[in-house]
Amino acid sequence: MTEKKKFQAIKGTRDLLPPETELWNRVEQTAREVFGTFGFGEIRPPIFEPTELFARAVGGETDIVSKEMYSFEDHDFGELEKLRSVLLIRELELENPQSASLHKGQLTEFNAGLEAGMKGRKIPVTPVNERALADLKMHTAKIEILRSDYTGGEWQARERFNASVTGIRQALRVVKFGDVISLRPEATASVCRAYIEHGMHALPQPVKLYYTGPMFRRERPQKGRYRQFYQIGAEVLEMVPPNQDPAKSIGKDAAVDAEVIEMVMAFFAQLGLEGVKLEINSIGDRECRPKYVELLRAELLKVKDKLGPDSQRRIETNPLRVLDSKLESEQGIIAGLPKIADHLCANCAGQYAEVKRQLGMRGVAYAENWRLVRGLDYYMRTTFEITARGLGSQNAVCGGGRYDGLVELLGGPPTKGIGFAIGEDRLILSLQEAGKGGAAQGRDVFVAWMGEKAQATAITAAQKLRAAGFRVELPPVEQKFGKALGQADKLGARYALILGDDEVATGQWTVKTLADGSQAKVSEAEFLEMLRKGKALSS
Ligand code: ATP
Ligand code: MG
Repeated sequence: MTEKKKFQAIKGTRDLLPPETELWNRVEQTAREVFGTFGFGEIRPPIFEPTELFARAVGGETDIVSKEMYSFEDHDFGELEKLRSVLLIRELELENPQSASLHKGQLTEFNAGLEAGMKGRKIPVTPVNERALADLKMHTAKIEILRSDYTGGEWQARERFNASVTGIRQALRVVKFGDVISLRPEATASVCRAYIEHGMHALPQPVKLYYTGPMFRRERPQKGRYRQFYQIGAEVLEMVPPNQDPAKSIGKDAAVDAEVIEMVMAFFAQLGLEGVKLEINSIGDRECRPKYVELLRAELLKVKDKLGPDSQRRIETNPLRVLDSKLESEQGIIAGLPKIADHLCANCAGQYAEVKRQLGMRGVAYAENWRLVRGLDYYMRTTFEITARGLGSQNAVCGGGRYDGLVELLGGPPTKGIGFAIGEDRLILSLQEAGKGGAAQGRDVFVAWMGEKAQATAITAAQKLRAAGFRVELPPVEQKFGKALGQADKLGARYALILGDDEVATGQWTVKTLADGSQAKVSEAEFLEMLRKGKALSS
């Protein structure tokens, strides 16, 4: 008897099902409409990109890149890769000369395959691969010679034999059959890549783009935190004209920042999201932040032994992140640390003041939070985060900030950038918690028919009603009217259209309003009129 395997969605992923997907569609539709009114166009970048792109853009030191990405090699060398696994995992063992000679054939086959792939340029000819191939060939030749001495029991030979096996194992491990690619953990990197790739700096500036779609991070799943989650984001990119005086563009940049924030807030307001709180901060730029970070580091060193292990480590790696700490015991210490607002250079201070003034002009309420930071070097000046109600500790629904210089870092022209990413899963959760999930998808009309002639009428009626935009359920086989009405009720239909011989003969349809059970005979035109009016009343 074959065992039945039960498949389940992978941990941290989930199926989004009706009627909830109606809410997802409404949220995405509202984003399109609101962002459209601000002049944003949609970009749909691919879901995977070279790992290197994320390593550069997000930063190799971040959790996202260092431990949360789903990465894999992309190549056509499945057989060779299998051979490698065989050699690595099971067969080629230290202290076992038999294994080496037994598998010399496989090793030679592997080496030849690798060499051919590299010659044909199908396997990347990188220094690492070249070195690995040379090592493999050398050690493969060696073990054969060493094996005979080894069985003689001489310890030096044994040592050399083991060194060669280790050398082979190491070389096998580092070989890359193709490019390493990753499922995207975020989309800003892709948008910047696309800006460069399509020469968007030649378009009227700034270029305003939005996206929606799944992101992938291998985090510990919990409420509001998934391994496949969805973001709605937008970016404003603008090439910096050569010789631009940075002080001159401060007012303009501040207005762009404020408008981007205003747009997110308008979107949330349109959805009726509750308990929305906007926090802003300026984290300085390349000129003033390094000095502040040094000052912070010096202050933190003074209190090092009062801090937890994470913060202690961050004194070296990234002192700004200490400000992020949620540890109760550290709160008092952090409150006494120097604040970046007091250490901004004139340009950054001017820009921050202007962002606040601009937000005020737009009627956007905000709170300043000097502890709001982003850990990455290229983030600068304006940073913001938005929280909403009903989400517990995962209450951030949107994070954003300015990232002038990122496009350049990725090989493009000097370019300014500001953007945000909304966590759509959390946005939806918050809407549901507030009872804004929307009703289950019902039907406008359930067509109950009996008899061959009635089926023909039912089909044309369904076609006309659907063409007019109404949701119609047409049962595939005839049902007794009582059963049909029960089903109509279960589906939440507003009307049951009852079609039998009588209705077909007279052209007068029986319509039952399910909410109150009332029944009337109407013509097709009258029924459409009824539906249209009903629609207007309920929406
Ligand atoms: P958090 O501090 O909550 O981990 P983050 O700083 O990692 O957020 P960003 O990279 O700025 O988040 O992404 C923007 C938004 O995407 C977050 O504010 C959040 O709403 C959402 N988000 C991030 N990671 C996840 C996840 N694993 N599951 C669901 N939503 C997420
Ligand atoms: Mg995170």
